[in-house]
Amino acid sequence: MPRLIKERILTRERAPEERAKDFGEVNLGYTFELAVREAERCLQCPVEYAPCIKGCPVNIDIPGFIGKLRENRDTPEKAVRDALEVIWACNSLPALTGRVCPQEDQCEGVCVVGKVGDAVNIGKLERFVADYAREKGIDIGLLRENSRTIRKNGKKVAVIGSGPAGLTCAAELAKVGYDVTVFEALHKPGGVLIYGIPEFRLPKEVVKREIGNVKELGVRIETDVVVGRTVTFEELLREYDAVFIGTGAGTPRIYPWPGVNFNGVYSANEFLTRVNLMKAYRFPEYDTPVKVGKRVAVIGGGNVAMDAARSALRLGAEVWVLYRRTRKEMTAREEEIRHAEEEGVNFMFLVSPKRFIGEENGNLKGIELEKMELGEPDESGRRRPVPTGETLVMEFDNAVIAIGQTPNRIFYRSVKGLEVDERGRILVDENLMTSIPGVFAGGDAIRGEATVILAMGDGRKAAKAIHDHLSGVS
Ligand code: FAD
Ligand code: SF4
Ligand code: SF4
Repeated sequence: MPRLIKERILTRERAPEERAKDFGEVNLGYTFELAVREAERCLQCPVEYAPCIKGCPVNIDIPGFIGKLRENRDTPEKAVRDALEVIWACNSLPALTGRVCPQEDQCEGVCVVGKVGDAVNIGKLERFVADYAREKGIDIGLLRENSRTIRKNGKKVAVIGSGPAGLTCAAELAKVGYDVTVFEALHKPGGVLIYGIPEFRLPKEVVKREIGNVKELGVRIETDVVVGRTVTFEELLREYDAVFIGTGAGTPRIYPWPGVNFNGVYSANEFLTRVNLMKAYRFPEYDTPVKVGKRVAVIGGGNVAMDAARSALRLGAEVWVLYRRTRKEMTAREEEIRHAEEEGVNFMFLVSPKRFIGEENGNLKGIELEKMELGEPDESGRRRPVPTGETLVMEFDNAVIAIGQTPNRIFYRSVKGLEVDERGRILVDENLMTSIPGVFAGGDAIRGEATVILAMGDGRKAAKAIHDHLSGVS
């Protein structure tokens, strides 16, 4: 057994004062040498026991892939190829999950080394394997080799939505011989990975490459197709043997505060879509503008709020995150909060908007905030914010509202017989089949807002269920 090293080998990060000025990636990842040193911290728990495997929603053989890096330390390309094969058995998009999974609550949260020191840096090792494989062309080589063994079975599946749920479902089905077409409403595939999570956390090139790998398996992706408008759901049902719905939760939740319609108030969804998908930060080179004034308020305490705040900062604003609880109750990943703090985002806790204040011309001028205090825990287990009646006014040129998202009801209403709950989430059985036989669903469309890896887990589970359904197993 290796000597237990309590402190993790850190990845390289760009300095806060440098990175806060551009959209380049913050974390630079491991070199091969550093990755092997970190891999050496793993105790190689037996597969049947390893808590990290159970902590990963798609059950990657984590000691298995880490072991490949250690065993082949003298032949980096072989080490990475073997490690990638282990990861790919359960996860088709490791460059993404290695970057954005909330590892601290999943695989790393239960790592045994974490009980005596820092958990093994599983996410960053996974990212390293995917990035190195991409750099050296190992992934494409392996894919082409594997694709040669795929035998088409003559059956067709339609996937609606190209986020992590849809892409994973499509990849898993293509691997066992289905003819899969993904329909995407936007002009680029990737879902939130492309239009939501900013470049400095998840470079678009990385997403594009991972999607390229899915296409390499034979999956077709048709963009600019809104199912329900461009093609009807009934047409898909007639043409395909099964359908998977992975339409996400892209409708912003907006509280009807007085004045919320003043110019300069954005939903986080609109703000991030303009910045990410339409490259508004490169206006006029790209033609979608985004108006960001001197002072920007971001309302919320989750990952979306951190992404909006750090994007606004990079566009030159002084940014204030306004959150109705305290730092402890924030739902954003600890790493994202730390990065935002280091870069100079300001935080004000225990405040909630009471009304938005505008000028005569309709532009936002400020926000009246009500001070809160913490009461008893609510159903989420976090202490509930309780209004105190005391208020203050702060001046802002813009506000970005990041208080949650829900599934898109307009699409569901166009689908006859599809049952949803009161929050617009599609109802599914234990095999992720909806109320319509042969139609499956997963990801945020069934969960509301969740995570990339949970969406991928659903995509994988639904692919197996679709295969069983079409092979007459269930
Ligand atoms: P989505 O990624 O939402 O993809 C759904 C796709 O379906 C979209 O491309 C949409 O255009 C398309 N679509 C919708 N309707 C139709 C239609 N009628 N026809 C055709 N296409 C349609 N999770 C993490 O794990 N870590 C993070 O750090 C993290 N950060 C986040 C930051 C932001 C800003 C946001 C918004 C979310 C973040 N999440 C994060 C959550 C995570 O991104 C989602 O849980 C995940 O993307 C859900 O995947 P999905 O495939 O279900 O849906
Ligand atoms: Fe951990 Fe996510 Fe990778 Fe699973 S997919 S091992 S949870 S980083
Ligand atoms: Fe390695 Fe931690 Fe997993 Fe054990 S729990 S195999 S130490 S990563």
